[in-house]
Amino acid sequence: MVISKYISLYFHFPFCTRKCPYCHFYVIPNRDQDSFIEALLKEWELRLPQIEGKEIVSLYFGGGTPTLCVEGIKQILQKTTAPEITVETNPEDVTPELMKTLHNLGVNRVSIGVQSLNNTLLKHLGRTHTAQKAVDAVNITHAAGIENITIDLMYEIPHQTFQMWKETVDTAVELPITHLSLYNLTIEPHTAFKKKEDALRPHLPDEETATQMLQYACNRFEETKLHRYEISAFARDGKVSIHNTGYWTGREFLGYGPSAFSYYEGKRFQNVCHLNRYIKKLEQGKLPVDFEEELPFPASLHEKIAIGLRLTEGIPLINIPLNTQTLLRDLEQEGWITYQENHATLTDRGRLFYDTVAEKIIDE
Ligand code: SF4
Repeated sequence: MVISKYISLYFHFPFCTRKCPYCHFYVIPNRDQDSFIEALLKEWELRLPQIEGKEIVSLYFGGGTPTLCVEGIKQILQKTTAPEITVETNPEDVTPELMKTLHNLGVNRVSIGVQSLNNTLLKHLGRTHTAQKAVDAVNITHAAGIENITIDLMYEIPHQTFQMWKETVDTAVELPITHLSLYNLTIEPHTAFKKKEDALRPHLPDEETATQMLQYACNRFEETKLHRYEISAFARDGKVSIHNTGYWTGREFLGYGPSAFSYYEGKRFQNVCHLNRYIKKLEQGKLPVDFEEELPFPASLHEKIAIGLRLTEGIPLINIPLNTQTLLRDLEQEGWITYQENHATLTDRGRLFYDTVAEKIIDE
């Protein structure tokens, strides 16, 4: 196993003012945050040996809504820095003061959960912001001096028509953004949407419309110089996310905070998904890890290939054992992947059916 000197750090802030009905992250209602911050700083101390001698290339504050806990962000940024520092937020929380504060703290990238620019759909998604508020949030962030702005957009939402999607995409590409992540809504277990899945399903766009939506967005983004560098990520030149790229290229990362995942020295582990248990473990001076696993070879390689194929540049074809090469040739014959300059990349069809391709590789 090659261990690189580069590492990324993720901080999970679990607080939200409400729980969106489709959300499957570990999120709790906003409350007193002192004990969380204290625990986070203890975890920071305990993990210092793990980052010793490493070069931290990105910090990512996600959640939840980390901007509900600016003090926590500040405390971490007093201890460390990185070339890319991202903070997630929601449109309704964005104010000029907040963005100036983040900018002054050294935050140079903001991720805004826009999701849609259609007010009816935003209501269906249980979001409290309006389309106008989302547009304002991007402009406020930009005006505060944070030029690296990414937004999330969601398609395949119940009641969404192609026209609604087109309007959202056309407005989004006019905003001063440098990056965009595109998701199709999935109904995940343990969400409010899961409970009313039967009622929602008839209102989802059909497969053909969903494909059209994706195609339209990809074309519009390319026209406006937001290049697709990963299945769901688009960026202007030089604005590819350092942090996210690490996930797809197998860079080590440590996750701090309840429910945060890590990948370190070939092992994956996750912190406990419960704030009080997280705090308690740290009070006892223990790392709050809930489970740990290490995939054996070649399963680890197959997982790496499946994830790496998400990138437009694909995966380099060096050090691939014979059995795996045969698997890739089979996928080529089925029209899922193609070869370019000693790299394997997904075809358009492969990208459209990525989940199937990934399953085939991982199950091999
Ligand atoms: S704002 Fe984001 S993290 Fe919070 S509940 Fe909604 S989707 Fe989940």
